[in-house]
Amino acid sequence: MSAPLRNYDIAELRRLDVAHHLPAQQDYGLMRDIGGSRIIVRAEGSTIWDGEGHAILDGMAGLWCVNVGYGRERLARAAYDQMRELPFYNTFFKTATPPPVKLAAKLSSLLGGHFSHIFFNSSGSEAIDTLIRLARYYWQAKGQPERNVIIARTNAYHGSTIAGASLGGMGSMHAQGGPMLPGIEHVMQPYGFEAMAPGEDEDAFAARAAQAVEDKILEVGPERVAAFIGEPVQGAGGVIIPPRGYWTRVEAICRRHGVLLCCDEVICGFGRLGAWFGHQYYGIQPDLVTMAKGLSSGYIPISAVGVADFIVETLRETRDDFYHGYTYSGHPVAAAVALENIAIIEEEGLVERTRNVTGPHLARRLAALAQHPLVGETRSLGLIGAVEIVADKATHARFGGGGKATIVRDICIERGLMVRAVRDSIVMSPPLVITEAELDRMVDTIAGALDAATPVLRAL
Ligand code: PMP
Repeated sequence: MSAPLRNYDIAELRRLDVAHHLPAQQDYGLMRDIGGSRIIVRAEGSTIWDGEGHAILDGMAGLWCVNVGYGRERLARAAYDQMRELPFYNTFFKTATPPPVKLAAKLSSLLGGHFSHIFFNSSGSEAIDTLIRLARYYWQAKGQPERNVIIARTNAYHGSTIAGASLGGMGSMHAQGGPMLPGIEHVMQPYGFEAMAPGEDEDAFAARAAQAVEDKILEVGPERVAAFIGEPVQGAGGVIIPPRGYWTRVEAICRRHGVLLCCDEVICGFGRLGAWFGHQYYGIQPDLVTMAKGLSSGYIPISAVGVADFIVETLRETRDDFYHGYTYSGHPVAAAVALENIAIIEEEGLVERTRNVTGPHLARRLAALAQHPLVGETRSLGLIGAVEIVADKATHARFGGGGKATIVRDICIERGLMVRAVRDSIVMSPPLVITEAELDRMVDTIAGALDAATPVLRAL
């Protein structure tokens, strides 16, 4: 263990949790009824422990983020050293501190292509706000202010601020706290398992899903469209891995109509797909990219936006301030931790390991799970994957009454595996340090949970 164990009064913490704490994205009536949150007290490698002493294999890397695994002394040391030397200074006063400057240079070299510049923020949602403001301001600076519509996809997740929720394609989020931001349009997600027509092959589906982007651009009018944004693989929307050829088609469409191509790399970045970035895996060249999560492996909040050189050149020519940025943009402690985190990913070859060893291992194990009577499809890319639960393998019919994956998820958690339920699928995104034996345990636990859930689901 990297830190001494503390003794917590878990019953008291749960009482305080119900009495005072509003956790993220929860039903607060339910949280009260179940007596508060499960208190997670420590973690090491790919395992978390709750206050009752249960060891739980973390099939979600926290929230798609703890890429280097838990218990990294080096990251604690990087934060400690930087806090002692200089805990904070801003980037508003024509000032900067060493870590964000070095991190910007490092990210620019990892991104390659035309990303010489990086803008820092603290969360994925803030990075998305930055991206929207940058894309729209870019077109204003080009003398085309009417070019302000942004196209995103259904079930996309781009954060939870008003801008992030608006850009995301989650109907449940749009339904609360509106009105949402104007000037945002959504097109179909490339969700083959649900949307492929009978007889349609992968190529035809890729063409149709990409065509939806072009149709929307033409419907809105290309002269009004600022940008298209997508997660290379949609994460929170159900681990939607696009069909081959989708992204290169979308890239060509954006180029044809002069629309900025934006990739939200908040989940896909930093090795998740077995490449440093999802757009590199798909061989496309976006103009704006957002990064967070794996940038610091979740040890400290930090996010970033990679900005194409031609956009930076346009901003330079305005000779005006870009009136955007946060107190914590370029936070020295967060940037120091991110630099050390990237050093770990490089030194341990975690991207290559995901591509060559653990990713293929997970894919093999999930392929075997696809035989299960309750499984309509399994899919994965690198260390992100999903299991589709169906009532009927042949027709893909679902169990009625809305998403049923929570039943399987709850059994997994009971049996010591943390995974997530998205509608009718179980999704996973373990730390990149997970071992093959742990991956076996993850898939075996899901298989066992599916068996255990079968009578419950069939009785519905
Ligand atoms: N974009 C994507 C693709 C995400 O998955 C998330 C978070 N799950 C966000 C943006 C928002 O990040 P945050 O929760 O740090 O604001």
